[in-house]
Parts: sequence; C-alpha cells; structure tokens
Amino acid sequence: MAIQLFVPKFRVDECLEGIRECLEKGWTGLGFKTVEMEEAWKSYTGLPHAHFLSSNTVGLELAFRLLKTKNGWGDDAEVITTPLTFVSTNHAILCAGLTPVFADVDESLCLDPASVEQRITDKTKALIFVGIGGNVGQYSKILEICKARNIALILDAAHMSGTRINGRHVCPEADVVVFSFQAVKNLATADSGMICFKNAEDDERVRKMSWLGINKDTYARTASQGAYKWMYDVEEVGFKYHGNSIMAVMGLVALKYLDSDNAYRRQLAKWYRENLGGNEKVRFIEINPECESSTHLVQIRVKNREELMLALNEHQVYPGVHYRDNTEYRMYAHGNGTCPKAAVASQEIISLPVHMGLSKADVDTVSQLVAKYAK
Ligand SMILES: *Cc1c(COP(=O)(O)O)cnc(C)c1O
Repeated sequence: MAIQLFVPKFRVDECLEGIRECLEKGWTGLGFKTVEMEEAWKSYTGLPHAHFLSSNTVGLELAFRLLKTKNGWGDDAEVITTPLTFVSTNHAILCAGLTPVFADVDESLCLDPASVEQRITDKTKALIFVGIGGNVGQYSKILEICKARNIALILDAAHMSGTRINGRHVCPEADVVVFSFQAVKNLATADSGMICFKNAEDDERVRKMSWLGINKDTYARTASQGAYKWMYDVEEVGFKYHGNSIMAVMGLVALKYLDSDNAYRRQLAKWYRENLGGNEKVRFIEINPECESSTHLVQIRVKNREELMLALNEHQVYPGVHYRDNTEYRMYAHGNGTCPKAAVASQEIISLPVHMGLSKADVDTVSQLVAKYAK
C-alpha cells in the first residue's frame, strides 16, 4: 500500500449531519454556521476576533491591503518576508501593491532575526512570519524587533492551527494572524481560512472588505425592522472573500478533533525521531522547546534529496518538499542569491508522511527506507 504525504481525515457522518442541517434550513452561505465557526475559533484560540474566509490566501491579501490603506503606505512600502513558503505568502504582498523583501531563514526554517535586522530600511512597514510546519522558530525575537521598530507583524499561520507557545495558542501579539483550513492542512475543510485581527476596528473593516465593501450593519438594522434588505451602504471597494456555511460545518467538526489529531501528529514525529534521530545522514528540523507544534509537517534534511525522493517513490512512499526557495521562481528572481541558507535548505528538505491514517508500522517502513537510501 502506498504511503502518501497527506491524507485528510474527515469525520464523514458528523460533517454530513451539519451539511444536512444547512440544506434543510436553506442556508449554505455567509452567516449561520460561519458565525458559529468564528465563535468556536475565538474560544479555542483565545484570539479576540476571527472572521471566516474562503481561504488563507485571500486573508493574507486582505491583511496587507487593510493595513496599507489604514496606515497610508505607498507602493514602495517594503514587507520583509521569507523565500521558504508557499507562494501565497509572497503573492499577497504583491497583490496588495507592496514590495516583498526577502530575509534569510535559520535552522528552524523560519525567518532569522539577524537577517531581518539587516533588511530593515526606512521603507519597511511590515513583516510576515511563516510558522513552517507549525513550528514558531524565533518568533519571540521577531516580535521584539517589530515592536521596537514599529513594524506591523502579520503571521501566516497556515500550518499553525493548534500550535501553542508556553501553553498559549498563537499569536495574540501579532497585528493579524491568518489560518488555512485547506484540504491538506492539519485542520481540513475543502477550502477556507480565518483572519484574526488584534484590533476591533480592523476586524470590523475586514468584514466589509470580504463582502464587496457592503456595510452589513445597516442591513442588520433594516432587516430587524422587517424589510429593506437591499438598504445597505457600500463604503469602499471590497471583493468576495468570505466563507460559507458548508465549509464552516466541516471546520466545526474538525475543530472538535484538532487537539487529539495534533497529539497524534506529535506521536508520529516522535516515532520518526526515535527511528532516525541517531542517523548522522539525517537532520531533523529542531522545534523550539517552548513550542507545542501542530506538527503539520515533519521535516528532515539530507544531502541527496532528489535521489532519496526517487528511491522512496519506487517503494510507493510519497514525501513532499516545503518549500522550493521562492527566489528560484522567475517572478521573484530579484531576490535570488540574497538568502543563502534558504537556498541550501531548499535543496535538502523533505517532509515525511504525516497524517491520521498512518500507523507505527508505516512510520517504521518509511524510516527504514530513509535510513537505507539517505547519504
Ligand atoms: C497552504 C498555505 C497557504 C495558502 O492557504 P490556502 O488556504 O490554500 O489559501 C499560505 N501559506 C502557507 C505557508 C501555506 O502552507
């Protein structure tokens, strides 16, 4: 039997029950279950605000556009970012009309505070931190830098549903945290995400921006008086980014199991480490000891990555790579050569299979193959 990198585990009956509820009520869109999901997410994370969206990608773009217009940043405003991420992170900066500036990563594969310091100019307005695989890296140092320099901090928490630092869910100090509930993330729906602003007025505004700029307060007021659902105001240009009740139902079900699923992911990681930790050809990405990682990924580094990948594939084991250095993409080539550690990591990293369908025997099988073919 093939061993895949990711296989989502859906609690099918519970999801169908919730979807049935939506269909019978005749309410599949914004409101109803999306409100329940927002409330559940706030109480789970302890974050003060949460707005349910159709994806993390749109959330990142909304975050940058909201902060840009609120603070009056020009198009030359710079955002410090990582080359080792899914391309959504960097596209969002460009889509909002801002300038990405790449800083290098450290051993955790997250942004290195020392490199970040070197990239700061008087045009630096924001920084986006990606918690790769659920790890927090040197987030606390990055936070201090941002506070001291008055730089807005955006957290791409696509891998961080359920990640805690010293027992507290990530990350109330960031200006905005954006989660992904895409199908292969550790909290899986089909496609959706959550944007969590620190400030109430930002949360209020993003709810308008995610629905064509429509001010739903007037809608709510007039609707409660009986009629006039069309009697809303439009205050600015927004687009259609909000989530829907079908996705929210899937999120609500997955959220119930998030902590136990993540605990099992940590168990899988522990088995991999027990099997391969003593192998000098295999280097694990170290998790910050203060971090209880969601363990969206278990990443190792080897010197013969392509060869090892092919050997594993021949044995029907299909690992992944998170991620290719974005400065190798043509459109981000201006950053090529500026982040040597990310460039090397990009050649060496492998994400081992981690999902709820794996057994100890599967981990042993993968580990034995890695031990056999790593050089
Ligand atoms: C998956 C992912 C995204 C995009 O999430 P979507 O919900 O699919 O838009 C962004 N950043 C990172 C690091 C991701 O892994």
